[in-house]
Amino acid sequence: MAKLTPMMEQYIKIKAEYKDAFLFYRLGDFYEMFYDDAINASRELEITLTKRAGGKGDPIPMCGVPYHSAENYIRTLIEKGYKVAICEQVEDPKTAKGVVKREVVQLITPGTVMETNMLKEGENNYIASLSHFNDGSYVIVYNDLSTGENHIALISHGWDAVIHELYNQPIKEIVISSNLPDDMQLQLQDRLNITLSYQDEVTFNAEYRSLTENLNDERLMKAFSRLLNYIQHTQKRALDHLQKAKVIKLKQYLSLDMYSKRNLELTETIIKKGKHGSLLWVLDKTATAMGSRMLKKWLERPLLNENQIEERLEIVDGFYRGFMERDSLRDILKSVYDLERLAGRIAFGNVNARDLIQLKRSLQTIPELKNTLYQFNRKEINSLADDLISPDHIVNLLDGSLVDDPPISIKEGSIIKDGYNEQLDTYRYATKNGKKWIAELEKKEKQETNIKSLKIGYNRVFGYYIEVTKANLHLLPEGRYERKQTLTNAERYITPELKEKEELILEAEEKSIDLEYRLFIEIREKIKNHIPELQHLADVVSKIDVLQGFATVSEANNYKRPQFVESKLNIKNGRHPVIEQVMKDGSFVPNDISLDESKNILLITGPNMSGKSTYMRQLALTAIMGQIGCFVPCDDADLIIFDQIFTRIGAADDLVSGQSTFMVEMLEANHAIANATDRSLILLDEIGRGTSTYDGMALAQAIVEHIHNNIHAKTLFSTHYHELTTLEDSLSNLKNIHVRAEEHEGNVVFLHQIKDGAADQSYGIHVAKLAKLPDPLIERATAILQQLEAEDKPKPITEKMDSGQLSFFVDENKKVKKEKQPANSDKVINDLKEMNLFEMTPMEAMNELYRLQKEMKQ
Ligand code: ADP
Ligand code: MG
Repeated sequence: MAKLTPMMEQYIKIKAEYKDAFLFYRLGDFYEMFYDDAINASRELEITLTKRAGGKGDPIPMCGVPYHSAENYIRTLIEKGYKVAICEQVEDPKTAKGVVKREVVQLITPGTVMETNMLKEGENNYIASLSHFNDGSYVIVYNDLSTGENHIALISHGWDAVIHELYNQPIKEIVISSNLPDDMQLQLQDRLNITLSYQDEVTFNAEYRSLTENLNDERLMKAFSRLLNYIQHTQKRALDHLQKAKVIKLKQYLSLDMYSKRNLELTETIIKKGKHGSLLWVLDKTATAMGSRMLKKWLERPLLNENQIEERLEIVDGFYRGFMERDSLRDILKSVYDLERLAGRIAFGNVNARDLIQLKRSLQTIPELKNTLYQFNRKEINSLADDLISPDHIVNLLDGSLVDDPPISIKEGSIIKDGYNEQLDTYRYATKNGKKWIAELEKKEKQETNIKSLKIGYNRVFGYYIEVTKANLHLLPEGRYERKQTLTNAERYITPELKEKEELILEAEEKSIDLEYRLFIEIREKIKNHIPELQHLADVVSKIDVLQGFATVSEANNYKRPQFVESKLNIKNGRHPVIEQVMKDGSFVPNDISLDESKNILLITGPNMSGKSTYMRQLALTAIMGQIGCFVPCDDADLIIFDQIFTRIGAADDLVSGQSTFMVEMLEANHAIANATDRSLILLDEIGRGTSTYDGMALAQAIVEHIHNNIHAKTLFSTHYHELTTLEDSLSNLKNIHVRAEEHEGNVVFLHQIKDGAADQSYGIHVAKLAKLPDPLIERATAILQQLEAEDKPKPITEKMDSGQLSFFVDENKKVKKEKQPANSDKVINDLKEMNLFEMTPMEAMNELYRLQKEMKQ
């Protein structure tokens, strides 16, 4: 059998080491891909799949992308979560014996990209690592290579908590041990949509010493080493800009499980998966990309410590009141470039002179920024100013060395200022002098030959030449110059003197370009030593930016500073921060809310579409806004600091996710019950909707009772089971409230007002009428309803039970009726009872009524 060609043999050998990446194999002006890589890449990149004879057997599938436009293709693959290994020719093909030597020079992965155009400005790009330990704990490390930040979190309470923590973080890639159980790997990949990478080596490398000084737990060290080893092995890059690992103590933050992060639409909406319509969208009035990234982080981790919250609120308050100063502050911030990512790129050595000029301009604003901050009459703001240390040495270095408007390339000169380097000045002087000499020569030759159009030009191939048009050739004395080139209507000449000068000029030019490049690298290296300063600066500037953004949005939307109290939560005229903005016309109806120890469960009834869900979510969002240090949407707020927020949103509202099974509903409820404390907030929105009426109602009641008797968490509970409103009699800490709707000329009008007590009607038929169902049908439904209401409906058992014991529903009528009524009538009545009008479209209601009527007529 024929053998593979040597080149394909080389390919296969290299590919074996990069099985999980697309291998971009350099061949002349192309990167080629073969076999499965080719088939997959042609599909993902929509490029043509071809074939190539490889020496053995069938032709090999192949496709390729031009070297010059490879970046776009790479970006597409990375965005789709793939990795790309760049394999270059590492010896000169002309002198190579046999197959040109090739090596992978870079592995580009979703978590390690640094190229500005592959990163989202206002979002972190994390590569994380996950390690599990025999004691059942997990450690997550977050690293953003573009900014250098490192965060470490220890999770000691199980795998579920890991998923809740990772959910919704901008993690593009996660480095794990190959021993992590398969089902966990699958969850990371499929449920969280993160690219997996493996690194089993977790030994600690002494090089990391400075990054890990503050880690005094071996588990944290190992987890951090896993990540750093991976980055070093695959990226072969400097890690100079990485910051010391910050340990995130999850217990110090308000914990939001993944359901809440999702249901409350904190940073993205459920349906469109975008920022628009989320709380972040409303609150993001930051002026810099750094600020925007920090705000997102704050939203993911609201604070628990009252002093820290108050410190932020003090600053926001100061910014809020100092309107004029805040305006100038915003203007200054707008001119600050992304210092954080710039620092990262300086460390990696991929900045050009223009970037450094932007750095200089950003740093030049610091003194002004400080001054502006000192103008606010607030000590917390002034201490932010103290914390901004103007890096004059960097500014001076950059200002003294780089021209103001350098080219993009750092290899073509025109970067360094005159007077910065003596040698460079000498070269430049030589060049300049040479050019002056040439200009003078031109003048002199013109005069002596009397040829006015004589000129001295330059091109890359021939260098300097004297050009005389054919029409003037007769004026030129024989033998004055040496002929070099003939054009259609001119001759070009040189002289030994001219060549000599040319050599001097070119040599000086070449040397000065070389020198400029070296000087630039030197400057860049010098700045590299100041990266921690830049990172600190970036951190303070981001914080200022987020807080001025809070002041700006609070003023624009009329938010109020909350007070934190021990036990009695009280919000006057609260609003939903997002819906209020979406409605724009100011027609949002504000509502009060009050929860304390004696009444910590509110049971909310009211017709569909009246505003129950809105009311519940607005409390959670208000609490979160308060705990990140922002003002809140209301006239006055006494808030308590919640330790955790849980949400369970009913199946019918959950259609979009496509996974609204009753099981998910119960899982979420269980998650709340298992973890909530008396400092937590639980939102249960129409729980029990995903199953049959009795089932659902039984579970709903049992859950409320359990929370009431055992957990004592602040709870909002909305339900369409009117029967549950009688719980107020048996559960002393439960209070009924309802959303008011009014009947007006037989129609229902939603007022969106919350009132004490239970809703008295279901309004379902009115909603059907609003939907313009035929009048006879509505009349018939009204009659049926009256008949049903006349009969005894099932009532929940409300007598006291041993805590934790389930209650059951009895329907005495059922047995009795069975004997009296014809079989189909029994079934029709039952069907009618079970029918959930709130969940039906008008058409479904119509069909159902039609069917029931038909059955009765039989
Ligand atoms: P429910 O949960 O009772 O079915 P929602 O809370 O989903 O009702 O509210 C339905 C719609 O009513 C919302 O999308 C919003 O447009 C409007 N709405 C709710 N609350 C208010 C309010 N307080 N003021 C004005 N409109 C409201
Ligand atoms: Mg609802």
